[in-house]
Amino acid sequence: MATITFLGTGHGGGAPGRFQSSLLLHTEGARILLDAGEPCTYSLLSRGFALDDLDAIWITHAHCDHTAGLPMLLQASKLRRRSRALPLGLPAHLVEPLKAWLRASLLPVEHLKFPLEIFTWKAGETVAFQGTSVIPRHTSHLDRYQDELHDTSLEAFSFDMQTEGKRIVYTGDIGEAKDLEPLLTEPIDLLICELAHLSLADLLATLATARVGTLCLTHVVEHDGLDRAEIRLQCGEKLDQVDSVYLPDDGEQIEF
Ligand SMILES: [Zn+2]
Repeated sequence: MATITFLGTGHGGGAPGRFQSSLLLHTEGARILLDAGEPCTYSLLSRGFALDDLDAIWITHAHCDHTAGLPMLLQASKLRRRSRALPLGLPAHLVEPLKAWLRASLLPVEHLKFPLEIFTWKAGETVAFQGTSVIPRHTSHLDRYQDELHDTSLEAFSFDMQTEGKRIVYTGDIGEAKDLEPLLTEPIDLLICELAHLSLADLLATLATARVGTLCLTHVVEHDGLDRAEIRLQCGEKLDQVDSVYLPDDGEQIEF
């Protein structure tokens, strides 16, 4: 049995009553933080979770609603005397800026007192970790910034994961509904999908024949005046083949 705890389900514009994107994947073999939107340290500690028990952090992309809790988490881990290594998966372009940010926060990596094992994602290349594997899949979420910021290295990922015999897909942030299509060619047991960068109509059309067991919608922007109850109702009505649809609140947990 594994669980996902939704620590933050808000969208990047800030939503009253919701923290920023962060999920805790807890399997038999590992506890992995997926994105580190703020205030993930507060959320973990409030749930009685010891920061030292965190086995890895995997970041989908650099936007601060997915990363701003990371420096605080590293600082708190240091002050709580973590000593064991902490693997940290990042988009490659984020490595040096993060190190510079930590240095500016008087927390240079070499002073953390625990090994911060930074590794970088390569689209399509599997990373296996303590019984969970992840294939980072490119999304077009940051493509427009490549022109705006003249930096072709900028990249965002969805995580296509396997653990305990189940396939879990966490979209992170996508650029458009089309980004979901390559993820949907095989059955998904649990799809955690953002609903900020595509409309509900596009989501419903894209998932119309998708083989998805459980659908969790996070990062929800209530497009076109639709509220969450209406979004859930429409998904339930139009996605017959999906077993269950959730729009989790912060702190909710799902077992699979
Ligand atoms: Zn984003």
